[in-house]
Amino acid sequence: MSANRRYGLVIAVAAALIGVAYLLTTCVAPRSFKAAKQPRQGQALGGRLAVIFSERYQIDLPGVQWFHPFDTRKYAKIYLKLNTDGLVRPETVFVPPEATPTQIGRVHTESYLASLKSARAVARYLEAPILASLPASVVDSGVLRPHRYATGGTILAARLAMKYGVAINLAGGFHHAKPDSGEGFCVYNDIAIAIRTLQDEGRIGRALVVDLDVHQGNGTAECFAGEESVFTFSMHQRNIYPIPKSESDLDIELDAGTDDATFLAILRKNLPNVIQRSRPDIVFLQAGCDTLKGDPLAGLMMTQEGIVQRDALVIDECVRRRIPVVMTLGGGYTRRSWAVQYASIRRTIETHGLSDRHPHPRRKATVKEKLYTK
Ligand SMILES: [Zn+2]
Repeated sequence: MSANRRYGLVIAVAAALIGVAYLLTTCVAPRSFKAAKQPRQGQALGGRLAVIFSERYQIDLPGVQWFHPFDTRKYAKIYLKLNTDGLVRPETVFVPPEATPTQIGRVHTESYLASLKSARAVARYLEAPILASLPASVVDSGVLRPHRYATGGTILAARLAMKYGVAINLAGGFHHAKPDSGEGFCVYNDIAIAIRTLQDEGRIGRALVVDLDVHQGNGTAECFAGEESVFTFSMHQRNIYPIPKSESDLDIELDAGTDDATFLAILRKNLPNVIQRSRPDIVFLQAGCDTLKGDPLAGLMMTQEGIVQRDALVIDECVRRRIPVVMTLGGGYTRRSWAVQYASIRRTIETHGLSDRHPHPRRKATVKEKLYTK
């Protein structure tokens, strides 16, 4: 066989293998994944902590992940790892319904929601130009619907936090979405929609948003501008997106290079005051982990351990004060970001949701699960 033919054969075999792996990971979902599809109740871990996830959170457009910094499988990877490590089982996870137009309409304007019928507009909000060339119906079912399920997840998390104490939505934190526009990968402001929904139902009066993503929660700030019942607190890096920034009730700007010790000291100093000033019936934590050293979209220097401690500071303080708390995931753009958030969620579950040991045996990931979390 000539060198050229041999080379061609190697390329063909490699392409076939990649094709099979691709089909396995995209078309054939792991069983534990399929079990989280239909909206249903789960079981609060230890009667105190609810985990919310839906298979429908997945952005369902093959190939989009290659054109966008967001890891579209982040949510599923965390869910699968929680399963294989014995922290949850599919039946213990709460599966949300899609957020309804009424719920979404409590925050976003009619004209903005009408603009989502244009694929070009959605492509702009999500900073994914490739979407502009697709039919609007495909963009709606493949991208917007997953965002509506994630928003439904934050609403359900809020209800469950009121009931059990702590709730973690394995998605959400779309804090750049404003009442009349989307930006920065965010279309629906899930936290604002959850707050408005619970307020309208008379379940809460006051709420506090603690936004620790490296980017300012400008959308959330605008959703509640001039609103006395909702306090918005954002700690973020100065001189990066969004520019200009909006005005939260409390903004703390951090320099590039801020490390764990500095970040945690500032948070520790401000959090009790913020809780006292806002007197919340519920707290929403936007736990974006793009504060991690090496994140391509920012310049802070936090470590995984620092981010775990950061989330613990907020969640443990709420639990200590018996204030319901919801965790949403927000941003994070390194290959390791999902694992950093997994570590934080695991600590939260082990601290607040379990007694002394894991409720389920650890098990080996199946081949499909391994491929999925790769
Ligand atoms: Zn961010």
